[in-house]
Amino acid sequence: MKNLVLFGPPGAGKGTQSEKLIQKYGFVHISTGDLFRWHTKNDTPLGKKVKEIMNSGALVPDEITIAMLKEELDKNPQAKGFLFDGFPRTVPQAEALDHFMKENNSAIHFIVALDVTEEEVRTRIAKRRTTENRVDDEEEKLNKRITEYFTKTVHVLPFYDKQGRLNTVHGIGAVETIFEDICKVLDKN
Ligand code: ADP
Repeated sequence: MKNLVLFGPPGAGKGTQSEKLIQKYGFVHISTGDLFRWHTKNDTPLGKKVKEIMNSGALVPDEITIAMLKEELDKNPQAKGFLFDGFPRTVPQAEALDHFMKENNSAIHFIVALDVTEEEVRTRIAKRRTTENRVDDEEEKLNKRITEYFTKTVHVLPFYDKQGRLNTVHGIGAVETIFEDICKVLDKN
């Protein structure tokens, strides 16, 4: 069983690339953003708790996020491999993920970071605003999400890099080219 973390700022293309990777490799997709959106849409107790935080563009506290992730892992004991999208976003989340994998005698085999500039991310999300209706894509909230990324989430990169586990893929260009570059990382190991 091989597990992948797909990492990158909001709008880096994690969702787009995840879809293609799932099709090719059969990963079970775990997107914490999608999970939180599902909870808020269905007004579950968890959804009620995180709605305001999410809509402001801030990160949901680690404790809540990690508990939700663990629940999702436990729901999929037969998974051939997981693709983690939008998780981990903090160092404690990365540590928790390693811990959960170890508990199942598994590991995170690949960490792929999509390297995209802040300028590109802003352009893409401005475009997405016209097609998708995400409350947190509004200017002010987007600013918050980008700040959260560059102040908190970015520290996950040296955490993995120090352990020699980080693969960086250039995330600007044709979707297909980026996909091939990710596949190269997965196929060479
Ligand atoms: P994006 O990557 O486009 O910012 P996501 O769909 O991954 O958006 O996440 C949307 C929101 O869900 C985040 O802004 C945050 O509030 C919450 N969220 C998702 N994943 C996490 C996480 N791992 N830790 C904390 N909050 C999270």
